[in-house]
Amino acid sequence: MLIDCGEGTQMQLRRFRLKYSKLDYIFISHLHGDHYLGLIGLLSSFHLARRSNPLTIFGPKGLDEIISTHFRWSNTQLTYSIDFHITTDDGLNLLVNTPQLMVYSFPLRHRLPTTGFLIKEKAGLSNLIKSKLEAEKLPVEAIKSLRKGMDYIGVDGSFYPVREYCYPQEPTRTYAYCSDTIYWPELKEYIAEVDLLYHESTFLDAEKERAELTMHSTAGQAASIAAAASVKKLILGHFSSRYKDLNPMLEEAKPIFENVELSVEGETYQL
Ligand SMILES: [Zn+2]
Ligand SMILES: [Zn+2]
Repeated sequence: MLIDCGEGTQMQLRRFRLKYSKLDYIFISHLHGDHYLGLIGLLSSFHLARRSNPLTIFGPKGLDEIISTHFRWSNTQLTYSIDFHITTDDGLNLLVNTPQLMVYSFPLRHRLPTTGFLIKEKAGLSNLIKSKLEAEKLPVEAIKSLRKGMDYIGVDGSFYPVREYCYPQEPTRTYAYCSDTIYWPELKEYIAEVDLLYHESTFLDAEKERAELTMHSTAGQAASIAAAASVKKLILGHFSSRYKDLNPMLEEAKPIFENVELSVEGETYQL
């Protein structure tokens, strides 16, 4: 999965040795160039590499037209199909539902229709405690039920609770991505208690008026949203190029929300 695709995304994927042939889904938050201008290049490279797997793209109205116009006028018949879905900024919408996870879009407030994305991991199958199963010779139906994380009650009244026959499950993880948005307190409803929040932080509080005018946020505002939504960790990004030193971003956010980091190109963040 790739969220947003600014200019140079392909180069960065190569630089950090990320296999982009494995990409199945691309999500575009809005149609400002810094969030999608790398897309046509990436789609063209898939074509040159003779990709055959279908690709699913979610993005605002108009993006489908931009893509099809380019390939029509370049007389390109892609080697793979694109399954395009229009996103709307009208609340929480389920976009993807696989056995492993769910992806939702939710509204942001910016100069164009813009959405954030929320990824929720699903609980996997439970790991059974093998020694107990062997010792007690559980019926097959009970094992099936336990693996799905459900207690089993047999017709004869026998009872096999998950807590006794399975190891505790790994907690499922959640991630929310907020690309470009003005400070908007209601946002907290959509991202409540996520494990990791990425939030834009284009300006410092000293430029609050400029942030409001351009419908962006400051580091302090991003931290306030993180605190109000009780998220576990915050990563700041989308810094204006006017700031050569980014430490003041952290200094501004920390007193409001302690567990905060600056995003760094190519870095991996463990959840
Ligand atoms: Zn924007
Ligand atoms: Zn932007």
